[in-house]
Amino acid sequence: MSEPKPSPFGDMDAEAFRRHAARLTDWIADYLSGSERYPVLSRVAPGDIRGSLPAAAPERGEPFDAILDDFERLIVPGLTHWNHPGFFAYFSITASAPGVLAEFLSAALNQQAMLWRTSPAATELEEVALGWLRQLLGLPDAFDGVIYDTASIATLHGLAAAREWKVPGVREAGLAARAEVPPLSVYCSEHTHSSIDKSVILLGLGHRALRKIPADARFRMRVDALRAAIQADRAAGRLPMAVVATVGTTSTTSVDPVAEIARVCEDEGLWLHVDAAYAGVAAMIPGYEWVLDEAARADSLVVNPHKWLFTPFDLSAFYSRRMDVVRAAFSLTPEYLRTAEAGQVRNLMDTGIQLGRRFRALKLWMILRYFGADGVRARLAEHIRLAALFAGWVDADPDFERLAPAPFSVVCFRAHPSRGEWSEDALERLNAALLDAVNASGEIFISHTKLDGRYALRLAIGHIRTTDVHVTRAWELIKRQAGELTAFDF
Ligand SMILES: *Cc1c(COP(=O)(O)O)cnc(C)c1O
Repeated sequence: MSEPKPSPFGDMDAEAFRRHAARLTDWIADYLSGSERYPVLSRVAPGDIRGSLPAAAPERGEPFDAILDDFERLIVPGLTHWNHPGFFAYFSITASAPGVLAEFLSAALNQQAMLWRTSPAATELEEVALGWLRQLLGLPDAFDGVIYDTASIATLHGLAAAREWKVPGVREAGLAARAEVPPLSVYCSEHTHSSIDKSVILLGLGHRALRKIPADARFRMRVDALRAAIQADRAAGRLPMAVVATVGTTSTTSVDPVAEIARVCEDEGLWLHVDAAYAGVAAMIPGYEWVLDEAARADSLVVNPHKWLFTPFDLSAFYSRRMDVVRAAFSLTPEYLRTAEAGQVRNLMDTGIQLGRRFRALKLWMILRYFGADGVRARLAEHIRLAALFAGWVDADPDFERLAPAPFSVVCFRAHPSRGEWSEDALERLNAALLDAVNASGEIFISHTKLDGRYALRLAIGHIRTTDVHVTRAWELIKRQAGELTAFDF
């Protein structure tokens, strides 16, 4: 038998792949260890990248080297470098090297784990990796897990399960034009992430169904106000459905009183979903077990390894003590997806809206093995130490003030010069200008929020290569720019 001849309709050959992959590997190795040579916040103007590229695809294929050259020349300038140790905006994240390697492999394998048989390994490794993570987080075995892309989608599934459980027949009859179903209510604090808003919108409850409960002086949901809102809704003929408690809110990383909220949910028969997207992983650190202690009473919970667990975007871990309800909401098997082993195995398509799903568990497994539980804990603890250092500098400086407690690795603060009178408006203008000035430096990228009407700067630590040097440099830069700005008339 003769060897098959290479087809003109085939893919890149193995030799060429080896050569291009070697160039790419070199580029990535330099990038991971040297992303600091780029300005962390991209300096392009809107439309620059689009304008630098042809409006139509090439008619003839081009050499891969030319494509990589253009990647470096045209695309890289338009990157904001999330994988940069000076990235302190929003929540700082990391694509760690073992995670990047796992993604490379995952792309090559192209597993699509809708059914157990379409990828026994992806299906079972997901169970194993989520089991490891659950143990590290100190959650009881009763929690079953599934991987989704983002916390937004995880929360949507949690609230869809709540709706399935609370509204009889919703799967068949929906919500529209059902006189016997009262308007539903979902409760969260005023500091809850906007993904909760989007979930209630998408689930057909209406945005007005979301009750934003006021927070206390430390930005935690007020449980007395929660109880009052539930009573008021019942009195008005509404049906309370679920509460979302946040462990690590987006603005300040405050932690809602989950134990008391869980008691309210038990008393009132409501589903409790805990959004621990950012801070949940801190529960692994000795001394921080309290972070998820009470979350064990939740019906569902989300933690994002792609946020503070060194996992390349995206990978969100959803856990539920009632995965049967999630399945009741979502499982549906058309004829062409029926398999003989159904019943003995888990089919991942049954626990979510997506049919196809990629092999995300591979990176979580590789990362946990490569760093080990100890290595992960040490890195998280280091980020908390760096944040405490920064918070200490803010506290000790008469021209700055802290605007929230910093229980994890995020510090909310602002410049507030000790000389002169500063109105809230003037302070907002000063700090907004300070934000722009430090971000224009290219050395660091920070973001802002509003706390009780006050404009706050946020410094979030979470990149695996961030050290004392970066945090010191950030503080010096912020102080220097504040000094320059206050020479002007604000
Ligand atoms: C980041 C964050 C989210 C959204 O995360 P995605 O994975 O991007 O959807 C939701 N809730 C909290 C508390 C977060 O910190």
